[in-house]
Amino acid sequence: MTELSAQELLRSNFGFSDFLPGQAEVVEAVLTGRDVIAIMPTGSGKSLLYQLPAAAPGGGLVLVCSPLIALMRDQLRTLADSGVGAVALHSMQEDDDAAAAIDAVASGRAKLLYAAPERLAQDGMQNLLRSIRIKLFAVDEAHCVSHWGHEFRPDYRALGEIARKLGAPPVLAVTATAGPRTRDDIARTLFARPPQIFQRSFARPNLALDFARRRAGPRQIVEFARKGRGAGKESGIIYCNSRNKTDALARELSRLGFDALPYHAGLDAHTRSESQDAFFTRKGAVMVATIAFGMGVDKPDVRFIIHADLPTSVEGYYQEIGRAGRDGAPARALTLFSPAELALRWRIPGAAQEDDAAAGDYARRQAMARLAAAPGCRFQRLLAEFGEESGPCGRCDHCRGGPLAWPRRLSSFALGWRAALASGFAARADISEGEADLPELAPAPIDAPRRQEEPPLTVAEARLLRALEAERLAIAKRRRLAPRIVASEQALRALARERPQSADDPLLRGLEEPAALLRVIREAL
Ligand SMILES: [Zn+2]
Repeated sequence: MTELSAQELLRSNFGFSDFLPGQAEVVEAVLTGRDVIAIMPTGSGKSLLYQLPAAAPGGGLVLVCSPLIALMRDQLRTLADSGVGAVALHSMQEDDDAAAAIDAVASGRAKLLYAAPERLAQDGMQNLLRSIRIKLFAVDEAHCVSHWGHEFRPDYRALGEIARKLGAPPVLAVTATAGPRTRDDIARTLFARPPQIFQRSFARPNLALDFARRRAGPRQIVEFARKGRGAGKESGIIYCNSRNKTDALARELSRLGFDALPYHAGLDAHTRSESQDAFFTRKGAVMVATIAFGMGVDKPDVRFIIHADLPTSVEGYYQEIGRAGRDGAPARALTLFSPAELALRWRIPGAAQEDDAAAGDYARRQAMARLAAAPGCRFQRLLAEFGEESGPCGRCDHCRGGPLAWPRRLSSFALGWRAALASGFAARADISEGEADLPELAPAPIDAPRRQEEPPLTVAEARLLRALEAERLAIAKRRRLAPRIVASEQALRALARERPQSADDPLLRGLEEPAALLRVIREAL
């Protein structure tokens, strides 16, 4: 197929006169039957990469493995006008709809089939698919294949084997997020032959990144949110790591005059959809949310993203800040962190030494801490995590040399480094290949400015800290460990302050028996 006819398909079926940057090369490679990995940021038109081949003449089915039913439904809606016969098979479907979809596939009327990975693993499904010609096997959100990615799904591991059983059709893996290790995993797991790799730049020239040590109270957040033109009239998203904090911050910001809305998985569906509608329709609305909010968010005029807690991975962080400035106008992102959070990221959980998934989780959390603590341009370092080389961005706090640059950062970094030494990190530096560059980042601790004092604990926090210390001692005795191996004093103080409410809270990761500590926190409320 020539590029011209690909362009004709684009116009006649999808109504676009031109490809977005990066699309044409990938489509061309796919149409000539090559195996391809395409890594492209959100918003760069990844789904067209497999939708367009489905519209190409010559018969055969494009099979798309997608992890999310909501995304399948969205794409079916968009494809309804394209003339490409598209169907989906998933677990939330009426039997009649499933039967109709199967019929469309078996008869050759369907050109595009969306299916979840667990569906593809079923024998009946494989028998159906073996009876037809598959011209392309596309794997959406391909980073799910890797435990180095932040959304690892075990059922994705089987997809390479499934492709082989289906007669080894050409494979297209697409993702918006894949560092070098994730990319290698995708290539190794999904492909029988070395794939051609296309990677679009992850640079975001309209986005300015800031990091700062978190102070008590909402003042930093308020000031950052009001920084733009027409203070209080700009839309933004504030991410918190716990539901309680989300609710409390939304209330506080409303009291201060913001149009602030809470969003997390603990709210009922009605409240969630009300918040979401308001966010999309009201100018200046601010969403205060856990990371449950965001999939498919495409509001063009989001001007700022604030992470009230250190994100758990650079991949997640990139996706979240990517929701600002979709319209191309200047946007800004602020990440707040505490030395305790940094210190926790350097503490190696015992499991990380045997378990691949735990090791991946540890490497991701640490990469995010490095981004917060390291000197040099933020964006340059962020892009380096995705395997992309770039020059200084000229917009981040370090590039601007602004008030958030050296002194404050140095002290928090020195803390993180000291914590690393204390946790025995230095002796076990072989835990993952990404750490090779750590020592050069370490300023001599002797020269570091003195640690800024944390505000004292409140009476309630101090009481909770004592209860946590007692529990730590009990765990230590039970497991025959030194108490500081169960949890450091810093970690317990962080728990006493933040009171995380769920076992998946980052503050609890890497600690021995997090459930027991969580119970103490809950009982103290
Ligand atoms: Zn920069």
